[in-house]
Amino acid sequence: MPNIQILDQNTINQIAAGEVIERPASVVKELLENAIDAKATAITVEIKEGGISFIRITDNGCGIAKEEIPLAFLRHSTSKIRSVEDLMTATSLGFRGEALSSIAAVSQVELITKVSSSLNGCRYCIEGGMEKIFEEIGCPEGTTFLVRNLFYNTPARRKFLKSAQTEAGYISDIVEKIALSHPEISIRFIHNNQNKLHTSGNCNLKDIVYRIYGRDIATNLLSVQASMESISVYGFIGKPLISRGNRAYENYYINGRYIRSSMISKVIEDAYQSFLMQHKYPFTVLHIQIDSNLLDINVHPTKMDLRIKDAENLIPFLYHTLYNILSSKELIPEISLEEKKLEPAFERSKEYEKVKKREERLAEPFEKNRIAKEQQIKEQALYQINQKPFIEQAEQIELFNGQFLAKEAKEQHRIIGQVFETYWLVEYQNKLFIIDQHAAHEKVLYEKMMTRLQTQQLISQMLNPPVILTLSIREEEIFIRFQSYFEKIGFVIEHFGGKEYAIRAVPDSLLGITQKELFLELLDNLAEEVQTQTITSSILNEKIASMSCKAAVKGNYTLSKLEVEALIEELMKLENPYHCPHGRPTIVVMSKYEMEKKFKRVL
Ligand code: ADP
Ligand code: MG
Repeated sequence: MPNIQILDQNTINQIAAGEVIERPASVVKELLENAIDAKATAITVEIKEGGISFIRITDNGCGIAKEEIPLAFLRHSTSKIRSVEDLMTATSLGFRGEALSSIAAVSQVELITKVSSSLNGCRYCIEGGMEKIFEEIGCPEGTTFLVRNLFYNTPARRKFLKSAQTEAGYISDIVEKIALSHPEISIRFIHNNQNKLHTSGNCNLKDIVYRIYGRDIATNLLSVQASMESISVYGFIGKPLISRGNRAYENYYINGRYIRSSMISKVIEDAYQSFLMQHKYPFTVLHIQIDSNLLDINVHPTKMDLRIKDAENLIPFLYHTLYNILSSKELIPEISLEEKKLEPAFERSKEYEKVKKREERLAEPFEKNRIAKEQQIKEQALYQINQKPFIEQAEQIELFNGQFLAKEAKEQHRIIGQVFETYWLVEYQNKLFIIDQHAAHEKVLYEKMMTRLQTQQLISQMLNPPVILTLSIREEEIFIRFQSYFEKIGFVIEHFGGKEYAIRAVPDSLLGITQKELFLELLDNLAEEVQTQTITSSILNEKIASMSCKAAVKGNYTLSKLEVEALIEELMKLENPYHCPHGRPTIVVMSKYEMEKKFKRVL
């Protein structure tokens, strides 16, 4: 065993940095929070290469006095609390005094700052925890932090970073969340010299929602404002029709702090429960104010989670507030058969001309597609006719040993009828088979869709007018990453300016279901999964197939007996007809014997 030694400060800081600074987005978060704590009213965040090589955060806050600068970079140095007692009531966003020392330990930091009481400002450079330059300079009031080459001295950590695009996505998430949490601060975000977000700081929360999430969401909001004793809440919640496939759109803030809390998420989802389909999550931006004596924020270094002592009050209060708002409005989406009239100004604009030209250009290949499609149908029919003698042979050999789904069994099926608008009862031999119509239908559609995706037999079907989508930076990143896949399976999607994309065509079998929702849900789904695994095109195929057939089979509807027979026949063709794509059984069975036991005819 080597000797025991005390680690030097720099090593301690590097290790500690691991707790607070995980990626460029953590740097941005910490520095943004510091700027907010410094009472800035305008903050600019600029990044290059996903923040890995360059982050600059400029604020017009109180600045740091010359003699305090080296102190600010010491571990556990903070101006925000003085004792453990203060921890309980901390109203500032930071207070652990760990961020600057951690950032400086693993990057090259340049600080330019000036307080109003001083004539000159200061420039301070610190790299890997070592002070390099400390000088007086002329500069405006406020603080600028430049953070270069994150993890330059900890290559192992650097390796853990994702692509610049992905890191930029994490950063934009953080900036967006913080912009929503402080509508009174003007926040600007620049990525690779492009302006990605600029909020006005005029306290208009809806305006920020519009800038971040686009028109679709901003025009489908319900306003929230309620208070009770020591708790109040204000903000917006989305109408159920703008629900999404994951929790990424559930934003809530406690005392201006962006947090994740499974408890609050659950309350929100419970309130929405009867208004949303399963696995759908609402859009919310909720500002909750609670007496800070009732909070315990010091749970985790990144302070994303917190404990609430007054949860017994908060939960019912929040639930009832949201539930009442949701239930008092007419939430049935309006549909109109008339085509939406374009705004006259738009019609005259150059952009409109461009769109029109593009449309015409695009229409041509679709004519070709129509011809190709007819051809394809003919080929498929031929293929199926050829396949048939083969399937019949195979079934005779393998499948017929008294199985319900064997071809020979079909003659003996006695379809009794449907119950609960869902289950079909079929008597066969000594058994009662119960088929879940939806699960069965889903399975059949799924298999068909999978085959078509795998063999790329899908054909684009043009949408006129195109569907316009507003993508968040994160969604845009996912979309760009999988763009060629989407195109391969028949989507035609074009950049429409800013954050808007136009879906001009969808794969034909996805028609009839709401293309926009499907596409957004797909992106949401992918956004969740790219974090945990590498996505192959077969995973994508499965996703699309399972989502599209789920959408297609939604809702109860009645089938005729003939249609059920056809459905059973389709099931027979499948390799695993007994489970739907989501793992639920398609058929269950009860034997005559079981029934007789129930009625005590046999013992
Ligand atoms: P904490 O925020 O937990 O106090 P930090 O390491 O993030 O710890 O910051 C250390 C100190 O540096 C802060 O307490 C604050 O006094 C000062 N500071 C950091 N950033 C700024 C800023 N943008 N403007 C003014 N002061 C700042
Ligand atoms: Mg801080």
